[in-house]
Amino acid sequence: MKIFNDNNCGWIDYSNRRTDIKKLEKDLSCDCLIVGAGFTGLSAARKLGQIQKNKKIILVDAQLAGEGASSRNSGYLVDTTLNDGFVSNKDISNYKNKTAIYKLGIKTVKDFIEKYQVDCDWNECGKYFASSRLEDEKKAENFSNLLNKLNFENLIFHKDELKKRLGTNFYKVGVFTKGGILIHPGKLINAMVKALPDNIVLYENTTLLEWKKSNDHIDCTFEKNRIKTKKIIFCANGFLSKLGIKQRYNFPITLTASMTRALTNEEFNSIGRPKEWGVLPIRPMGATIRMTKDRRILIRNTAELKNPQRMTQVELNKRVDLHKIGIEKRFPTLPKNIINSSWSGIVCRSGNSSQIFEKIDRNIFVAGCYNGSGIGVGTLFGEQIALMAEEEDSEEISIIQSKKQPNWLPPQPFLNIGIFTRLLFEKIIAKSEI
Ligand SMILES: Cc1cc2nc3c(=O)[nH]c(=O)nc-3n(C[C@H](O)[C@H](O)[C@H](O)COP(=O)(O)OP(=O)(O)OC[C@H]3O[C@@H](n4cnc5c(N)ncnc54)[C@H](O)[C@@H]3O)c2cc1C
Repeated sequence: MKIFNDNNCGWIDYSNRRTDIKKLEKDLSCDCLIVGAGFTGLSAARKLGQIQKNKKIILVDAQLAGEGASSRNSGYLVDTTLNDGFVSNKDISNYKNKTAIYKLGIKTVKDFIEKYQVDCDWNECGKYFASSRLEDEKKAENFSNLLNKLNFENLIFHKDELKKRLGTNFYKVGVFTKGGILIHPGKLINAMVKALPDNIVLYENTTLLEWKKSNDHIDCTFEKNRIKTKKIIFCANGFLSKLGIKQRYNFPITLTASMTRALTNEEFNSIGRPKEWGVLPIRPMGATIRMTKDRRILIRNTAELKNPQRMTQVELNKRVDLHKIGIEKRFPTLPKNIINSSWSGIVCRSGNSSQIFEKIDRNIFVAGCYNGSGIGVGTLFGEQIALMAEEEDSEEISIIQSKKQPNWLPPQPFLNIGIFTRLLFEKIIAKSEI
């Protein structure tokens, strides 16, 4: 298995790459191996390195650290969600648990950026859940009522107010939630790579191909070499099922996004100079769209079942055509060809939008499956799974463990048929919202 990335993500600074890249080139043994260096794996490594200063800890990633979904996302650090995993939040106590985890996730990221003095364009500007269809007013009201019951400040806005705030008259109704932060994911993840303690050895472009548990250790096979480890923490998120981890509980979904160049003064004036904002769709397969701090528009309006290892340029271009349509619908006065970066990324989903956080066997741990909301939760789960691996308790672990477990999924090929049909159905419903 080799993981390929398209090399054109607007959040990644390709001109200023790290030069200290090491690849695994000999057989090694260690006390703990962490697989995957995104928000989860980097946070697990940071925490473990802090509490186990004398142990040998290795972190591996199949690509460059942080360059998976962790720097390819839309940068919403969420306190509330409406449509994660296509489940409407009817069950209030489950939703309460979920938001308690989001809150801890935000706190964990905030503590990190304060401690390491990170500039990641942090903006506590809230977010919108919006629709271009007035029929969605009822869903907006139900969601707003749920938020009120749980004391999340929110307001319902209609077309004129939304136009003033967003610079587009596309949306007819929206719930504005005051909580929720917009960030620059590339800056945040870079800071996490830099913050790795000295006792963590990072190997990049180093793909774990197979692993096998023996009596007192785990044998891990890479392209040319092996690592023998006493403990292992899997943080490979969208690739967990490929590694044979919790296969009946999670599956990968491929998302694609594009970002425009910065709008010129004239273009920005023509849409009313809105402040930075982020909109999430009321209908699950609608577009996520953001106006960034530096006046670029980001759009993500596809989610599909695809081979997670590769998206060709031709395939990516087809998705970019949809991004162009999405931007044009909302900003018809802007020039047509202003997209200057497009990319794909892999998220991990479960059937009921619950995350995975557990010890799956003696000395084997896994954290992941954030259903598209993993910036805060991944950072939290990474730190906490490291504590769990060291048999330490924490209040956070108790809160995480009180969440629902992911549902059992049907076997293949029924699983893929089910996902495909569901995505198609949601796509038809959200046709107007791309
Ligand atoms: C387009 C897009 C938009 C998104 N928007 C948001 C958003 O706005 N807000 C939000 O909270 N979340 C969002 N997400 C989801 C979020 O990015 C993820 O939940 C988060 O990055 C998960 O972090 P992670 O560290 O668990 O996984 P990843 O960042 O995916 O890291 C896993 C790492 O494991 C490595 N790996 C996999 N297999 C192997 C192997 N065999 N050997 C070695 N290494 C391996 C991969 O290379 C990868 O770097 C979005 C995702 C995408 C793709």
